[in-house]
Amino acid sequence: MTQANPLLCAYDLPPFSQISAAHAQPAIEQILADNRTAIAEILAQQPAAPSWQSLVQPLDELGERLGLAWGPISHLNAVCNSAELREAYQACLPQLSAYWTELGQNRELFNAFEALANSPAAAGFSVAQKTILEHNLRDFRLSGIDLPAEQQQRFAAISARLAELSNQFSNQLLDATQAWTKHLPDASRLAGLPDSALAQMAQAAEARELEGYLVTLEFPSYYAVITYADDRALREEIYQAYCTRASEQGPNAGEFDNGPLMAEILDLRHEMAQLLGFANYAELSLASKMAESTEQVLSFLRDLAAKSRRFAEQDLAELRAFAAEQGVTDLHSWDVGYFGEKLRQAKYSVAQEELRPYFPIDKVLGGMFAIVERLYGIQINELHDVERWHADVRLFEIRENGEQIGRFFIDLYARANKRGGAWMDGCKDRRLTNSGSLKLPVAYLVCNFTPAVGSQPALLTHDEVTTLFHEFGHGLHHLLTRVNEAGASGINGVAWDAVELPSQFMENWCWEPQGLALISGHYESGEALPQNLLDKMLAAKNFHSGLMMLRQLEFSLFDFELHANHGDGRSVADVLQAIRSEVAVMQPPAYNRFPNSFAHIFAGGYAAGYYSYKWAEVLSADAFSRFEEEGILNADTGRAFRDCILANGGAEAPMVLFQRFRGRAPSIDALLRHSGLSEEAA
Ligand SMILES: [Zn+2]
Repeated sequence: MTQANPLLCAYDLPPFSQISAAHAQPAIEQILADNRTAIAEILAQQPAAPSWQSLVQPLDELGERLGLAWGPISHLNAVCNSAELREAYQACLPQLSAYWTELGQNRELFNAFEALANSPAAAGFSVAQKTILEHNLRDFRLSGIDLPAEQQQRFAAISARLAELSNQFSNQLLDATQAWTKHLPDASRLAGLPDSALAQMAQAAEARELEGYLVTLEFPSYYAVITYADDRALREEIYQAYCTRASEQGPNAGEFDNGPLMAEILDLRHEMAQLLGFANYAELSLASKMAESTEQVLSFLRDLAAKSRRFAEQDLAELRAFAAEQGVTDLHSWDVGYFGEKLRQAKYSVAQEELRPYFPIDKVLGGMFAIVERLYGIQINELHDVERWHADVRLFEIRENGEQIGRFFIDLYARANKRGGAWMDGCKDRRLTNSGSLKLPVAYLVCNFTPAVGSQPALLTHDEVTTLFHEFGHGLHHLLTRVNEAGASGINGVAWDAVELPSQFMENWCWEPQGLALISGHYESGEALPQNLLDKMLAAKNFHSGLMMLRQLEFSLFDFELHANHGDGRSVADVLQAIRSEVAVMQPPAYNRFPNSFAHIFAGGYAAGYYSYKWAEVLSADAFSRFEEEGILNADTGRAFRDCILANGGAEAPMVLFQRFRGRAPSIDALLRHSGLSEEAA
């Protein structure tokens, strides 16, 4: 008897232990075939005046079934990557891409949506329903519904190829990250590193049956060396290996080079935009975003850069003087993090590492939950005895008035074969079915923190705590939704440049004494973060914020110009150099190939959209300023934020939701003040 494919069976939570790479392709093929038949039937049976129940609901159901099969594959591919899984994942991509393109170019379907939007019934639709219809019609146009057949085919071919290229980009980056290691037989060259990092490197060596220490390019390892290693040559070596990953430079030059992929990706994006009648890909990107024009984005970024530059120059001058005092008069890129940390300690006598013992993972999670429980009137409990993809994974539920309203997995620690970075992803969406049953949302929260060593609990740096709050903010946006239609529930349908609002907003509580009191406690004594450490930490909050602001603006402008001016004869390197000359206060070495690992824009969804972080930061800082005015644990303000922003997902335009919460249009002042980049703060 053959076993049923677990990806084709309805499930409450994905049956991770039963899912293998071999299930992926058959499940996806089956579902795509079923969906094609079902869509034809839905269209054939559509009444002259389509209704929400006859058109949108059945389509949502098909989308849900596909999502429930594809979601776990793509999730496992990111968190438990293997050769088999990678191959299976890759094999599905062109089929999925073809399917999405076909849907987007299905004239009959488009006509049915138009008929629904123009039907008398539509006048009585909820705001969410109206927005969903509007977005659907827009997306049909952005999928080339109005193009002649030949151009539609070209559009489909481009979409398929782009999906493949993005996937290759991230695979090569992962391979390049794993290809370089440095084995050190003893700790002599690792002087300066904190014990936690040494223990981690010893554990990594042991896992490969080596004596001593293994330095890798996984972020915690890279970060520890670049920030703490007294050995300048070792810092330079890891810097070079890290910033040349997946390029034609550095220790693995040419082996996993993303350069040709990037060139092809940019050409194809430009061609796609022009097919749709846009001048460039940046314009296409903005067609579904909150920002209104490429000029608006560029002037927003340049205005911030101009306001921050003076502060960044001061930061750098101070750093150079400090390094010179220690005998380093030629400050290089691999010295910035190191002397930066030393200067921070000298100025504020507080080190990230010194804070670690006060942030044991359970205390942080418990405190973070307590904060949102108070703000949003919910309860969070851990659930046991569930299937997970790794022993470290945990599952939690959110309850409101005694009823479960959502659940989330957390996967916190860095390990081999797990994609770097931190992210939130939907596992299931909230949706009310035609039969009236309410499906509840489930989310994945994934981070790459330093794992527990030996019997000690995992202890987080404050940076890691902030990352956790950030991802949890995305999670709450997905989980606290009250929208019943899949197209706008959770983060679905939220404009990309507004999607970072709830996440960056959550980070604020990591910087508030009242928040810190809840999330910190020494892992041995339970002692709260001592007042003097807290004072120092807050004083150090905006350390180098001018430099950091310019760095983010450099990334944002690079990404945006790359897509707005494609075809002007400049290479990726030329654009980067131009932006660096304009914005950066310090030039990295010529071999630096940062773009080759810029997965956000080449493998993620941030193409001509990296500016979204800064854009949304203006919104999040300004939203938080209402809490500063009314009390940062004020439950009424919390409820208002939830009602206006978190509960509404993509149901209404982000500017409308923001103004409903704040009572006015967003202002840039709160961000500058929070970052110490205003006259008032200076
Ligand atoms: Zn985010």
